[in-house]
Amino acid sequence: MALWGARSCGGVSELDGRFPAGWWVGPLAAGGDGRSALGLEPLVPGARPRRAAYHAAQRDRGPSTKNRLKSGAKLPGSGGAVAVITEEAIRELATFRAGDVPVTTCYLDVDGRRMVRHQDYEHELDRLLRSARNRANGSESVQRDLQRIEDYVKGGFDRSHTKGLAIFSCSARDFWKVVPLPAPVRSQIIINAAPAVAQLESVVQDFERIGVLLADRQRARMFVFELGELTDHSELLEALPRDYDHRGHGDQGYEREQHHIDELAAQHLRHAAQVAFDVLKERGFEHFAIGAPDPIAHTLEHDLHPYLRERYRGRLHLCVNASIDEIRHAVLDFQAEIERRKEAELVERVREALGAGGKAVAGLEQVLPALHQHRVDRLLVSAGFSTSGWRCFGCGALATVGRACPACGAEMSHVEDVVEEAVEEALAQRVKVEICVDNADLDVLGRIAALLRY
Ligand SMILES: [Zn+2]
Repeated sequence: MALWGARSCGGVSELDGRFPAGWWVGPLAAGGDGRSALGLEPLVPGARPRRAAYHAAQRDRGPSTKNRLKSGAKLPGSGGAVAVITEEAIRELATFRAGDVPVTTCYLDVDGRRMVRHQDYEHELDRLLRSARNRANGSESVQRDLQRIEDYVKGGFDRSHTKGLAIFSCSARDFWKVVPLPAPVRSQIIINAAPAVAQLESVVQDFERIGVLLADRQRARMFVFELGELTDHSELLEALPRDYDHRGHGDQGYEREQHHIDELAAQHLRHAAQVAFDVLKERGFEHFAIGAPDPIAHTLEHDLHPYLRERYRGRLHLCVNASIDEIRHAVLDFQAEIERRKEAELVERVREALGAGGKAVAGLEQVLPALHQHRVDRLLVSAGFSTSGWRCFGCGALATVGRACPACGAEMSHVEDVVEEAVEEALAQRVKVEICVDNADLDVLGRIAALLRY
């Protein structure tokens, strides 16, 4: 029997009547922190065994909204919520060209932890704009881009879920896109032939979907976070019969009942693991974590379906009653850690390949030709690495030294940030790009490296 087969998008009434007698379906009220009002109590008095289960997919958008979405429903892209941008959308952005008109990209750190007042990030923006206006080189389109960016940022925007902004503009082509991000970015304005999507790509990679299962002996909560936003939430409650204790019984009876309670708890954990697996099948996620007391986490880990096991990244220090905000913060930290681990493994693979004379290159001088020859399988770039260089508009080759193209001999154009160009070229080739944060090994290799296809 499906424990939580009823997926609600409209509230309690849709669930009523779907559970057998003895089940109690809690109200699906979303509190200010998105927490359900379904607690351990009160349950239906006198009903035994008292169990309750419901499953609700909901978009936690703060106190003002109580939207619930059907499984797989498209999330609304505006209205204060952070839109979840896909890798596909980034590739599309990366391929935008406006001929000879430059595109302006602005990344702005608006993280409330550092930028407490709006004046703080406005000052940062002013500094970037001054420098960018000097670099606009008389381009009227760029001047209009910069004005529009200034108007947008100073016009005020919802910062409740936004730590970074990515803005892309090309006024001459009527091109304008704002992407609010759940993670801080490195503030910069780039004026280039194409949208500078490297930082955006990095954030999206850092925030692969993660499923989180919180459990104790009678309650289980399953969440899916996407780009730092809660996109799915399930609850399972199977209260243990507490009033056994109050009835008179001998030691033997007590033991028998204790055994029965343990059985129920074990059954509950199997159900919890099943909920996690069902959510995986329905929603999909790349990472999975468990928050539970040690013995429970141990049991859950032991019972994981192989698909969950291969996504399992470890335990979160969260109790089953944690608030949505507590969970979100723990998830953000955990995902940063997962990402750093993945980056370290990739850099290690590059080092090993380089040592064995295998399929890897390091340093801009080596990486740029490999990229032009479509030999790159994975590109690794140190976060913040930026240097000027050259681009051939004849054959598309990038180079550190100008002005003759090393590939075709044509005269190349100077570009402000050839690293950014390399990242965009890689993305256009559908090559995966890793922006590595604080990886000293990659820095030593020249701050850029690639694993090669051949
Ligand atoms: Zn060329």
